Amino acid sequence: MTATWCTDLELSAPIPDALRPARSSEGSGAGQRYDSVRVLVRLHGAPIGFVEQPLVADALDVTVLLKAADADLLAAVNEHLAADGVAAVSTVAAAGPARDGDRCASRIRPHERVSVVVCTRDRPEILRGCLDRLRRLEYPNLEILIVDNAPPDGATREVVHDLAGLDPRFRYVREPRPGLSCARNRGLQEATGTLIAYTDDDVSVDPDWVRALAVGFRTPGVACVTGLVCTASIDGPAERYFDARVSWGDSCRPALHRIGGETDDGGLFPYSPGIFGTGASFAVRADVFRVLGGFDEALGAGTLTAGGEDLDAFVRIVLAGHALAYEPSAVVWHHHRSDLDGLRRQMFAYGTGLSAFLAKHLSDGDTRREVLRRIPRGARRAVAIGTNTHGSLDGDASPGAAEVPTKALLLRELAGLAVGPVLYARARRAIPRR
Ligand SMILES: [Zn+2]
Repeated sequence: MTATWCTDLELSAPIPDALRPARSSEGSGAGQRYDSVRVLVRLHGAPIGFVEQPLVADALDVTVLLKAADADLLAAVNEHLAADGVAAVSTVAAAGPARDGDRCASRIRPHERVSVVVCTRDRPEILRGCLDRLRRLEYPNLEILIVDNAPPDGATREVVHDLAGLDPRFRYVREPRPGLSCARNRGLQEATGTLIAYTDDDVSVDPDWVRALAVGFRTPGVACVTGLVCTASIDGPAERYFDARVSWGDSCRPALHRIGGETDDGGLFPYSPGIFGTGASFAVRADVFRVLGGFDEALGAGTLTAGGEDLDAFVRIVLAGHALAYEPSAVVWHHHRSDLDGLRRQMFAYGTGLSAFLAKHLSDGDTRREVLRRIPRGARRAVAIGTNTHGSLDGDASPGAAEVPTKALLLRELAGLAVGPVLYARARRAIPRR
C-alpha cells in the first residue's frame, strides 16, 4: 500500500521550487515515507482542483506540478479570474494575487460574531493538535468553545485551561450527558455568536476557515454553510479506504442547495447523503437552528445510532425552506482512522446513522411520503457508491493493498443499515423527557 502526503499550494503566493513533506513533529505523518503527493491547488484561497504526482527522492519538483496543473486546471483558474473581473492567463502560475477593485470573494471581510464549537471526548492528545490549528484562526470577532463530553477525568479541562490562559478566545464547557448531539446542543446553548461553526477534534482547520464560512452567509436565505473536508494524509490501508469511500473532499465548486433550487433534481433531494457536506465542517445561523431544535439527541456518535445527526440537521434546515451553501474555500483537513478496527466501527456507524436518519423521517407523518417515494432511487445510489469504492481500490496492486478487507467493510456498512432503525427507536426511548 502506498502512502500519500496531502498538502496545498496557493498560486498567488511565492511558489517554492519543490514541495517536501515536513519532518517536524507536527501531524501524524512525522517520519512517514511517502510515495506520492496530493496537492490542493488554490487561488486566492479558493480551491481550484487536486493534482496527484509521485514523490521522487522525497520531493516534488514544482515545475512538474505546474505543468500538470496547466493541463488540468487552467480552465478553472480562468473561471475564477473571470468571476473576479480580471483578464485570463495562459499558465496557472501567472494568476497573481487578488487586487483592490476586483470582485474576489477572498477580499470580503465579514464582521458577524462567530462561535466555533468543538466537541471532544476523552482524547486530549488528539485534541491538542486540533487546538493548535484553531489558535491560528484569523477572524476578528470570534470565540472558541471546547465542549468536554462526559469526561472521565480532568485531562481535557487542563489542556483547554492551559491554552485559554494564552488565548482568551478559548472557553471550556463541560457537558455531562454523553453523545455528540448533546455536546453540540450544549455549544448551541452557550454560544454568543450569531453564527456557529462546528468542527471535530480530529480535524485541522485552515487559518481562513471561519472567514470563508461566514462569507457563505452573504447569499440571502442561507442558514447553513458547509465546507471542503480534505484528507489530511494517507499513511496506510485504513486511511486509503476511508479516503476512497467518502465524498467530502471532491468538489471545488460552490453550490447552493434549496427546495426548488438548482440542485433539486426532483429525485433524492434533499434526502441525498453526501451532497450537502459533513459534520466535520459547517456553520449555522444560531437563531434559525435554535428554532429548529438543534441536533437530534438520538442520533450521532456516542449514541446507539452512532451517526446521522449532521445529515438530519442539514435536511431539516433545507426542508424548513432555508438555503444551504457549500463553500469549498472553507477548508479543513480530516485525520482519518488509521486502524482497521476503528475503520470497521466507523463503517458500521455510517450504516446505522444513515438508516436511523431515514427511519426518523419515515416515522414522521410530514415527511413519510417524500422519503418512500425516493427509496428505490436511493438504494440504487447506495449500491453504486459501494461498487465505486471497491472499483477504485481493486485496481490497487501495491504491497499491502490486500490488507484492506473491502468486502467485509461493505458488509459492516450494510449490517449497520439493517439495524439502524431499531437502534433509533431504542435511542429515542432512552432520552429522558424534559
Ligand atoms: Zn480571486
